[in-house]
Amino acid sequence: MNKRWTIDKIKEFVEKNSDSKLLTTEYHGFSQRLLFKCACGNNFEKTFKKFKDNNQRKCDVCQPPKVAR
Ligand SMILES: [Zn+2]
Repeated sequence: MNKRWTIDKIKEFVEKNSDSKLLTTEYHGFSQRLLFKCACGNNFEKTFKKFKDNNQRKCDVCQPPKVAR
């Protein structure tokens, strides 16, 4: 399914589904890195796909990335 996301919908999703906030104000597609502000105060960058599909909804300090082997 190809759901169309707008920056407003993403912002809403971020606020409803995480403690982070979206700082980016324009959305250009799934490959774009968006800027978020974590609940701890750190800013972090992630694509929305990772944020949504991989549940990476916090900064690397609060949620360290899994090391791929
Ligand atoms: Zn954090």
